[in-house]
Amino acid sequence: MYLEIKNIKKSYGENGSYIEVIKGISASIEKGQICAILGPSGSGKSTFLNLIGGLDELDFGSIKVDNKELFGLNQNELSEYRRENLGFVFQFYNLVPNLTVRENIEVCRYLSQNPLDINELLNTIDLKEHENKFPSQLSGGQQQRCAIARALIKNPKLLLCDEPTGALDSKTSKDILILIEEINKKFNTTILMVTHNGSIKNMAHKIIQIKDGKITKDYINKNRIEAKYLEDL
Ligand code: ADP
Repeated sequence: MYLEIKNIKKSYGENGSYIEVIKGISASIEKGQICAILGPSGSGKSTFLNLIGGLDELDFGSIKVDNKELFGLNQNELSEYRRENLGFVFQFYNLVPNLTVRENIEVCRYLSQNPLDINELLNTIDLKEHENKFPSQLSGGQQQRCAIARALIKNPKLLLCDEPTGALDSKTSKDILILIEEINKKFNTTILMVTHNGSIKNMAHKIIQIKDGKITKDYINKNRIEAKYLEDL
């Protein structure tokens, strides 16, 4: 099992006014799976992803990524874990405005000892001809493709995407999801994708539904369809 999560809990707040946001979640995800994480707004999806991504510390339970336990790691160790294993893609692209497409990707290349070839990656994401442009000169979809390439250049084992198409129109969303699927196939990257769009789950191998900090459904998607056939994005 690539990702093994056991009875994790997370609360926020202080001085007695705690809100428990993750209330004992257990799940497992295999290498090379695309896992969609669904649920209503405020149900704890982003917190769940952030705990797996080592952006937030667990209060209780265990998360093992490739057999490495995250519980109890300090900030330096979590940062090393993120650098070595993870790529992040968010709803808003968070590109550096005064760096070109190529430079935005290149800065992350040095974080890895085993990076992908930048020219090949620029071709895969169809941005080679725009490599010298600045983010402000790109469409939303192109900016998100650049953000995905930035997350991928270090060849992460695990790609965490939080509402990656949340800011995009439906045609561009489909293009981005097709790209995510291609990456999964080409690099066997394990992908966790938080979404509140019920259609996106259809392209996932595994679906986890969260409500009120708990898992309400966790199943293998036997009727998986390719991203190009998704509707209502
Ligand atoms: P979702 O991604 O499903 O919309 P979130 O994980 O973002 O849900 O948030 C779940 C709950 O946790 C919300 O009530 C939110 O206000 C609360 N929460 C998330 N992060 C923090 C934080 N850093 N401090 C306090 N409360 C937080």
